[in-house]
Amino acid sequence: MVTECPSGEKCGSSCSYPERMANSGSSDVSARDLVDPFGRTIRDLRISVTDRCNFRCTYCMPAEGMTWLPRSEVLSFEELEHVARLCVERYGVDGIRLTGGEPTVRAHLPVLVAKLATLVVPTESASPRRGQPIDLALTTNGATLTNCVDELRAAGLGRVNISLDTLDRERFERMTRRDELSNVLAGIDAAIGAGFSSVKINAVIERGVNDDEIVDLAEFGRAKGIEVRFIEFMPLDAEGHWVNDKVVSQDEIVARIGAVHPLESVPARGAAPADRWRYLDGRGTVGAIPSVTKPFCGDCDRVRITADGQFRTCLFATSEFDIRSVLRSGLAGRELDDAVAAVIERAVGTKWAGHQINQVNFVRPKRTMSQIGG
Ligand code: SAM
Ligand code: SF4
Repeated sequence: MVTECPSGEKCGSSCSYPERMANSGSSDVSARDLVDPFGRTIRDLRISVTDRCNFRCTYCMPAEGMTWLPRSEVLSFEELEHVARLCVERYGVDGIRLTGGEPTVRAHLPVLVAKLATLVVPTESASPRRGQPIDLALTTNGATLTNCVDELRAAGLGRVNISLDTLDRERFERMTRRDELSNVLAGIDAAIGAGFSSVKINAVIERGVNDDEIVDLAEFGRAKGIEVRFIEFMPLDAEGHWVNDKVVSQDEIVARIGAVHPLESVPARGAAPADRWRYLDGRGTVGAIPSVTKPFCGDCDRVRITADGQFRTCLFATSEFDIRSVLRSGLAGRELDDAVAAVIERAVGTKWAGHQINQVNFVRPKRTMSQIGG
């Protein structure tokens, strides 16, 4: 447990972190919880398993010229499991999402899933999942899911989000630079049939590119019986094309769907990034992630580790904390755990109140979405 604010200087005298941590034993914050300087308890770890991808989505990667991490710099499954186990068992992290790049291009992904699926949230944690296995999820472009979905499910994967931004084959090819729509649609069906506790669609909406398909995509989700989550376009594209005018706001997305299929709000998002609405005709729910127009940083419980072992406290963070070098330092056992934990605590001590998109002092992170892990 952290007892002194690791970013003392940064927080200044107004920081109440030390007092909160000192009182944590007598509040709802368990001794195991990892709390940032703004009182947010960290529960969710996003693990990027690779920076590589079989697509080149225009809002994420360039057509050519990505430089991949050398394999020696990418964390092994054993290293990833080590960090994940520490986060779960020492700090009560209760959810892990595997992402990338495209996580399914990493060889033997089910082996990692099987390792992580054994992790159980400690009973002493204040997490609502204490005593239960972690919530283990995957974000994928779906193109190769038909080949691996049953193995992933059997290995213990609980939930899947599949990205799908258009139902039109030519547009799909323009947006992803790959002619793979039919494989993705087959992957979605395979995931629905595989028995996950939830399958969702992620759809990034970009004005002038696919905003005319908002209702069609929502109807696709209704027909399949799965939730579509519309994501506002964020300034994390490799080619730097993002401008505010290309963002279609959550309000506009929900208004367009609601005009055709009336909606009511589902309250209590908690720490989840998506706001959700219920169709009044009872045919499911739809979500929207308003990262740009209504940032939800105040409730953010997420931290991330990149494929090369850099710990990040925000998608938009401009600093990273090197866990790989600690994992490879030659330390072992409790000494290694404590050294990794020290880096995690130092990083979490710098988690900022929120990102600054739309403000003059916003600085794009050096790494883009696929390199960080979305
Ligand atoms: N390759 C996988 C996929 O596409 O689902 C996982 C990694 S991808 C980086 C994770 C999510 O980030 C996807 O849903 C993708 O659509 C989204 N994404 C990528 N670039 C984005 C951007 N600039 N703005 C908003 N969402 C973005
Ligand atoms: Fe690959 Fe996912 Fe980025 Fe598309 S959004 S290029 S599928 S990492």
